[in-house]
Amino acid sequence: PQTFTYQFDTPTYKGTSSFSTGVFINGKFIDGSDNTTIDVLNPANGKLITQVSEGTPKDVDYAVECAQKAFDTVWGLNCPGTERGRLLYKLADLMEERLDEFAALEALDVGKAYNFAKGADVPGTVATIRYYAGWADKIHGKTIETTQDKISYTVHEPLGVVAQIIPWNFPLTMLSWKLGPAVAAGNCVILKPSEFTPLTALLFAQLTVEAGFPPGVINIIVGYGNTVGEALSHHMGIEKVAFTGSTLVGRKIMKSAAESNLKDITLELGGKSPGIVFDDCDLDQAVNWSVHGIYFNHGQVCAASSRIFVHAKIYDDFLAKFTERAKAIKLGDPFGADTYQGPQVSQQQYDRIMGYINAGKEAGATVHLGGERWGKEGYFIEPTIFTNNKPDMKIVREEIFGPVAVIMKFETDDEVIAQANDTVYGLAASVFSKNIDRALKTAQKLRAGSLWVNCASHVSPQVPFGGFKQSGIGRELGEYALEHYTAVKAVHINLGHQI
Ligand code: NAD
Repeated sequence: PQTFTYQFDTPTYKGTSSFSTGVFINGKFIDGSDNTTIDVLNPANGKLITQVSEGTPKDVDYAVECAQKAFDTVWGLNCPGTERGRLLYKLADLMEERLDEFAALEALDVGKAYNFAKGADVPGTVATIRYYAGWADKIHGKTIETTQDKISYTVHEPLGVVAQIIPWNFPLTMLSWKLGPAVAAGNCVILKPSEFTPLTALLFAQLTVEAGFPPGVINIIVGYGNTVGEALSHHMGIEKVAFTGSTLVGRKIMKSAAESNLKDITLELGGKSPGIVFDDCDLDQAVNWSVHGIYFNHGQVCAASSRIFVHAKIYDDFLAKFTERAKAIKLGDPFGADTYQGPQVSQQQYDRIMGYINAGKEAGATVHLGGERWGKEGYFIEPTIFTNNKPDMKIVREEIFGPVAVIMKFETDDEVIAQANDTVYGLAASVFSKNIDRALKTAQKLRAGSLWVNCASHVSPQVPFGGFKQSGIGRELGEYALEHYTAVKAVHINLGHQI
């Protein structure tokens, strides 16, 4: 396979990055079985960055074979947790040494601000890998009392070969949320990055070799959803598939799992998360977090605070301050020193978001700010605010996945809780109030997997993340994620009595 070498000469990062663009199976980069490639584009200008090997269903078969062999010989029950932890710690150290390079690749490939990737995405990835390195030798079962004649205990064993399919909005972060718990628990992994943003996963693959992981434990296949993704979710040799992405594809994966070997699944899907701003909040705090909640990562965040409900008493003040902050967002070159917002990831996403903006206009909502393309090249969209929204409008009901805030006014607590819960999704919600009773009572009544009080989009490796309702199945992060990568074996010991 080809080697990708890129010279970064930008205002914020200078340096060279070089790694193989092959399919990574059994500790080696190889060409995909069809010898075809996928174009990787720079979303800031639409130009070609490089081409990477396109994985195929045949490559998936080979990876499953190698991963199973590793599981049966050098990994899984054949490798103590302390050793798995040591390798993961080493991998985290190697990533940290190349933090700037990872951030630069993420900025180039995804279009996210370099400084943001450097301050959040990459350190968060390292922290997640370290967190799970610590778990590797602490995955214990229980001893369970039954009768005097019997002792029982449980063992939490790895599942075997697991597949992980991730999206383009946080390529490295999603990789760590998936790989960390799976590998710590002793599984062998086949991970498929998004075809739009494969670069950081390939550099990561190279570091797994440097860290000393046995071949076959971690395999990375870049490929399309309808080929590699389908092959993974249909495969009879794969025990589980973990997916993050759209609800539409989530449904397909569940179906494929059912039609093949009833493999276990976890799904992290979309959202239309509410932010509730009460009249007794700290207004500046509520504005700052609400702006971050919808506009960070250009709105391409599954838990984005995309429906903002503001109490009538402070609606005008909130809207004025929110608008001022949104107007001040600096768009431009992802490598600019003060850039906050880069381009959307692709032409497809650009078109999709503009489609929603037009639908909002046609339905009679008011474009209070933005709503247009920004600049002459690349997939930039102005930070946008819609007001005069009605509950049945598409922009209020569907996930836009872009820098589009939908702001609404409310009068009573009961009314806003009902509206916030009026969605098929349930990924996250924010509540802003300085009255602890009101904030916690509201948090209790909201149907969502993450509840943020006086903040938004605040994740930590230690704390579980996942959705209620159609936002998903299962939890990532924290101890909870380990449950999805282990099977419980119960052992019954008879203390000598006859039947
Ligand atoms: P997607 O669901 O199509 O893609 C996510 C991943 O699934 C990619 O790796 C893709 O190659 C793979 N995939 C696609 N079809 C597949 C199939 N049939 N079988 C197995 N894998 C398959 O998401 P997208 O097209 O990149 O984005 C579309 C929308 O999805 C977005 O606008 C957004 O609403 C949502 N999304 C949500 C998240 C999230 O974090 N929850 C992330 C990305 C996208």
